[in-house]
Amino acid sequence: MKQNRKIVLSESEMPKQWYNITADMKNQPQPLLNPGTREPLKAAEMEGLFAKELVAQEFSSQRWHDIPEEVLELYKIYRPTPLVRAYGLERALDTPAKIYFKNESVSPVGSHKLNTAIPQAYYNKVQGITNITTETGAGQWGSAMSVACQHFGLDLNVFMVRQSYDAKPYRKVVIKSYGGKVHASPSALTEYGRSLLAGDPSNRGSLGIAISEAVEMAVTNPGTKYTLGSVLDHVLLHQTIIGLEAEKQMEMAGEFPDKIIACFGGGSNFAGISFPFLRHKLTGDGNSKAAGLKLIAAEPAACPKLSRGKLEYDFGDTAGMTPLIPMYTLGHDFAPEQIHAAGLRYHGGGRIVSRLKADGFLDSIAVEQTEAFAAGLLFAKSEGIIPAPESTHAIAATIREALKAKESGKSEVILFNLSGHGLLDMAAYEEYLP
Ligand SMILES: *Cc1c(COP(=O)(O)O)cnc(C)c1O
Repeated sequence: MKQNRKIVLSESEMPKQWYNITADMKNQPQPLLNPGTREPLKAAEMEGLFAKELVAQEFSSQRWHDIPEEVLELYKIYRPTPLVRAYGLERALDTPAKIYFKNESVSPVGSHKLNTAIPQAYYNKVQGITNITTETGAGQWGSAMSVACQHFGLDLNVFMVRQSYDAKPYRKVVIKSYGGKVHASPSALTEYGRSLLAGDPSNRGSLGIAISEAVEMAVTNPGTKYTLGSVLDHVLLHQTIIGLEAEKQMEMAGEFPDKIIACFGGGSNFAGISFPFLRHKLTGDGNSKAAGLKLIAAEPAACPKLSRGKLEYDFGDTAGMTPLIPMYTLGHDFAPEQIHAAGLRYHGGGRIVSRLKADGFLDSIAVEQTEAFAAGLLFAKSEGIIPAPESTHAIAATIREALKAKESGKSEVILFNLSGHGLLDMAAYEEYLP
C-alpha cells in the first residue's frame, strides 16, 4: 500500500523542548569576542542589546530547553507543520530516491521565521521591554517579528534593505498590516544611515547596513532591544522545533534520512531541520543509520560564505558594531550581487554551523539563480507549491542529489526543508519566466 502523502502530528505530539546542539559537540564553537577588547564576550555585555533570557540561551550548554507555555500556544496557530512525501517531484525526476520535505511555508507569514520571532518577542515582553528594533532583507523576518510583537503588545521598528523595500512592496504592507513600522535602509533615522546617505544618496543598502541601523536605534533608546532572525545560537535553538517534529514524522514513515538539505542564509532553517538528526551522529547513541547521515547547505553562487569564505573572526554587521563572530565569512563589507533570494545574501555562517563545517559534519554547494528558479518551477508544477526564491536553492540541491541517485540506481532517502512559499515574490518569478 502506498504511504500517505502528508505525515501529520497532532498538537499534543508537538515537541515541548528545543534542542541545543552545543551540548553534544566535542569541538566547541569558539566564543564571541568583544570587538573593543577582543576578550570573550560576557553575557552582561550582550544584555545591553538582547533580552536577558535570549542571552542566557546564547551562553547555555544545557541540552534541552523547555518551550514556554505561551510560546507553545502561539506555535499551535500553524504547528505542527506537515511532512510531505514529494511523490510528484519523484515522478517528474523519475528517481529511485524517496524525497520528503518539511513544509514551513504554512506559517501565517509564509516562512520558518515565526518559530523564533514568537519566543524572541515573548522573552522581551516578560522582561518588561516595550520597544523592539530589527532589520529585514527580503521582508520575511520583519513580517514574522511584526506578528509576534503585535501579539505581545510591543512597538516594532524594522529597517528594510532599500533594494527589497523597492522590489518587494507587498512585504512592507504585510509588516504594516500587523502594526510594525518599516523604514528603507539606509535611513535618515540613524547616524550611521545618515553618514551613508551623505556619501551616496541612492545607496541600495545591505543586510549588514540594516543590522547596524537597528542596533544603533536599540542602544541609543531606553526600553528598547534588538532582535536578530538568524546566525546566533539562540535563533538556531528555537528553529530546532522543525527537525524535532520532522524526526517524529520520519519515524512514523519508518525512515531515517540519508541526506538532509536546506538553503543557507545565516543558517537558521538549515540548523532547525538538521541538528536534531545530527545529534544521533554526534552522540553515537546507537542509531545505525545516523553514522552515514549527510547534511548539505545550499547557498546562492552570489554569496557562497561556506563554500568560498574564510573561517575567521568577523563582525555580524557592516559598520562593525556587533560582537566578533568566529565563522566562515566573505567579509563584513562584502556586497553580494542583487539576487532575488534576498534572505540568502548574508556574509557569514554563524559560529555553530561554521565549527561543524570545519569538522566535516556538513557540505555546502553553491547554486546559480537560474538553476534555482528552474528547480522552483518544477517543484511548483509537480507539488503545487510555489517556493520562496530562497527555498528554491534547497530544491535545486535536492534535484541534483535525486538525479545522482537515478544515475547510480541507488534508492536513498532525502529530506529537505521548504523554508517558505513564494507567493509574495511574483515580481521575481515574472522576471524569470519566458
Ligand atoms: C530568511 C529566510 C531564509 C534564510 O535564512 P536562514 O537563517 O539561513 O534560514 C531562507 N528561506 C526563507 C523563506 C527565509 O525567509
